[in-house]
Amino acid sequence: MASTTATSPLSDRVTSMEESATLRMAQLGREVMAQGHDVISLSLGEPDFDTPEHIKDAAKRALDAGETKYTPVPGTAQLRKAISDKFKRENGLDYAPSQIVVSTGAKQSIANVCYAMLNPGDEAVILGPFWVSYSAMVEVAGGKAVIVGAGIDRDYKVNPDEIAAAITDRTKFILFSSPCNPTGSVYSAEELAAISKMLADYPHVYVVSDEIYEHINFVGKHASIGNCPEVKDRTITVNGFSKGFAMTGWRLGYLGAPQEIADACNKLQGQNTSGANSIAQAAGAHALNSDLGPTIAMKEAFARRRELIIEGLEKIEGLKVNRPQGAFYIFPDVSHFFGKSDGETTVNDADDLAAYLLVNAHVATVTGDAFGAPDCLRISYAASEEQLKEAVRRIDEALGRLK
Ligand code: PMP
Ligand code: GLU
Repeated sequence: MASTTATSPLSDRVTSMEESATLRMAQLGREVMAQGHDVISLSLGEPDFDTPEHIKDAAKRALDAGETKYTPVPGTAQLRKAISDKFKRENGLDYAPSQIVVSTGAKQSIANVCYAMLNPGDEAVILGPFWVSYSAMVEVAGGKAVIVGAGIDRDYKVNPDEIAAAITDRTKFILFSSPCNPTGSVYSAEELAAISKMLADYPHVYVVSDEIYEHINFVGKHASIGNCPEVKDRTITVNGFSKGFAMTGWRLGYLGAPQEIADACNKLQGQNTSGANSIAQAAGAHALNSDLGPTIAMKEAFARRRELIIEGLEKIEGLKVNRPQGAFYIFPDVSHFFGKSDGETTVNDADDLAAYLLVNAHVATVTGDAFGAPDCLRISYAASEEQLKEAVRRIDEALGRLK
């Protein structure tokens, strides 16, 4: 891309960057709502629950105790110990406190990794469909995002051979989330072991495993690829508090990494933002050291909502629906509706369909295109059962008008 320096105050870096489609749709939904419409927002990936009381109480105690100063850049000793213990206890992972970097959301953790590891031209293999910000973060760090994807017929999961075919000498890491945003797919322990075995042939490739939805898994125990012997010493495990503890607004995430990568993230963060919010860190340590009762109750609510949304969407003619195993997203294939019109609006692709549903059904969703799956639509079911039932009814009605 030609430099815009002469004509624009903006850098090429930000000019060529895509805006986050999830945040854009959430904003569009708010705008339609501000016009007086009753919009059901199924766009943003955010639990609709409040943060559990005992976590809020821990924050209040920290505030009253004067924990209001800068913390060490990679996090307080108390929180890093709690994370190290959690990794060991729940995931079987060995990251010493020194290998942990706490950040302002898992979003920053992943951005730190991209800046710490990618030189211009280096490649990151991203398993698709993928969370919107992965490719943008890789590219803004100067890297090249190489996408390997699978469709709904395979529950959106790629196999080791497909990943291997995308690896080159320039590949720095593979990056994926399981449970996955946007598909809700979960890679089983066996599938992760097969990916790890394949990576034995590629010792220069690291693994960035985003496990932020680990607690929202409907099919069994969460599996961490960092347990697999072939990649044990080259896995960066990312996690956070937003989803499992309903703490999106607190902005707290973390990673465990090989020491030199953790040190690099620490150095970067020290120049960019310093340590995460001191009060959130105190609350986070308390959350990890407490029992997971409220987290499990939220998971159970999501499980009931999953049944409701699957049952509702399956009845809509033309939608292809699978059975997501985790997170709180469903990712139907909507390509049947492309080229159809309600007499006024023609829907040519998933972007048009998301816009059509927002304007005509007052339901906010996100186009699959943003996640590397142009035939699909992401629907977040982190909403009440009443809202979900009404959203399905409206979607059914609006899609029924497309001929
Ligand atoms: N990873 C995935 C897969 C996500 O869906 C999100 C959404 N928030 C994040 C990371 C970032 O989470 P946060 O910055 O809120 O910790
Ligand atoms: N990760 C959530 C989502 O995918 C929150 C929005 C965002 O951070 O992009 O909707």
